[in-house]
Amino acid sequence: MSVIQQLQQQLRRGEVSSVALVERYLENIRQREPQVQGYLTVTAAAALAQAQALDARRAQGEDLGWLMGIPIALKDNLCTQGIPTTCASRILAGYQPPYHATVAERLMQAGAVLLGKTNLDEFAMGSSTEHSAYQITTNPWDTSRVPGGSSGGSAAVVAAQECVAALGSDTGGSIRLPASFCGVVGIKPTYGRVSRFGLVAYASSLDQIGPLTATVADAAIMLQAIAGHDPKDSTSIAAPVPDYLQALASLPPTRPLAGFTLGVIQETLGEGLDPEVGQAFDQAVRHLEQLGAHIIPISCPTFAKGLAAYYILAPAEASANLARYDGVRYGLRVPASDLVRMYAKTRGEGFGREVKRRIMLGTYTLSQGYYDAYYLQAQKVRTLIRRDFDQAFTQVQALLSPTAPVPAFPIGSKENDPLSMYLTDLMTIPVNLAGLPALSVPCGFTRQGLPIGLQVIGNVLQETVILQIAQAYEQSTIWHQHTPPLVADGDG
Ligand code: GLN
Repeated sequence: MSVIQQLQQQLRRGEVSSVALVERYLENIRQREPQVQGYLTVTAAAALAQAQALDARRAQGEDLGWLMGIPIALKDNLCTQGIPTTCASRILAGYQPPYHATVAERLMQAGAVLLGKTNLDEFAMGSSTEHSAYQITTNPWDTSRVPGGSSGGSAAVVAAQECVAALGSDTGGSIRLPASFCGVVGIKPTYGRVSRFGLVAYASSLDQIGPLTATVADAAIMLQAIAGHDPKDSTSIAAPVPDYLQALASLPPTRPLAGFTLGVIQETLGEGLDPEVGQAFDQAVRHLEQLGAHIIPISCPTFAKGLAAYYILAPAEASANLARYDGVRYGLRVPASDLVRMYAKTRGEGFGREVKRRIMLGTYTLSQGYYDAYYLQAQKVRTLIRRDFDQAFTQVQALLSPTAPVPAFPIGSKENDPLSMYLTDLMTIPVNLAGLPALSVPCGFTRQGLPIGLQVIGNVLQETVILQIAQAYEQSTIWHQHTPPLVADGDG
């Protein structure tokens, strides 16, 4: 049983109340936050009030399903009505949205209890959460290392058991990378599967919201609650949402993956791959074979071009999306003698270094004379990548790769080398360019005890397939049973 299922059983039997459950997690927050620093805002009072109301409703016989009373956290680029939403940027300091993101709305309607908002790289631009304007989140497995990014706060607080489940956003790997670095499950759904309404836009054609959880079944429960069409997001897909838990339950107990053909992406196994990550990945592939899967090598020749195309397209979209922070409508305003100076000063002081780098890159590649050479060219590469995947999916149901070429790196080690930071997303980025669903599931540890993640990529709207593969793998391995030293040292 997953963590959510276990807790829900206790809640239903009356072994624990929603209030007691929230208090337990608030206590974990009190004990571990001084080291983890994963939350930007903790909404303790509101959470307790919400839990109290839920206990009363339960006493009346109401049952809202798996999430009723389950403590969760949201990445701080998801709008929450009346609760600060900063995107970890100074420019949004003090900003309180007048509405909830659709995902927040849906989770709360399902009875989930919001414990707080989690840290990220400013505007989700980064791979380590070091680009937050407010604090450095640490990796609960080794607090001298990064949790990955940009949803590093969400991954870290799930790993440290400071909430049961969290949401992140993934534009180029920001759910899967921190999931792999922190030893949790993270899924980026198909572009359009989950409404982006109320997600502060970074690169709108790539952004997608998804869950970070302790187990695959927990991810299935969270995805179930947030997936589906939303009239407020014109890019959300109007297709029925399958029953994900049912799909997991339908796997046969022996050789659950018989009948699945899986492809190993050859282009992800070359230069730059940490040998321990490579070994863990090879073992995971052999394990999947033992579970009945037929494994074949697959070549995606344009895969390696994804990173270059992404760093044209994402900054281009970002430069347009971030134009709205001008000191007039949201957050920070730095007064000046005239309007143009006010814009310049507000943006100059409000944005951090990485955000400015992206805005400048994007503005440059979109400018007249460079548009064809950069932006248009990158769009063509994007199409080629999509074709490579289309071709692959004529032969396999899902593709496999390590989630990241390396395990979590020391805080500060890539600070002055943006390119080496960008390289950590090599394996996750092509998936966003093609709009496909993919997840990261724990597949081992390095000798130093750092988690390693296996990436499973599916075809459009095939979340069920990748969840099934991950479930079969997880349930026949022990990786998800390990807890970080920080939890083991505490009362966990
Ligand atoms: N690390 C990538 C970037 O900096 C991806 C971030 C993301 O997925 N939000 O853009």
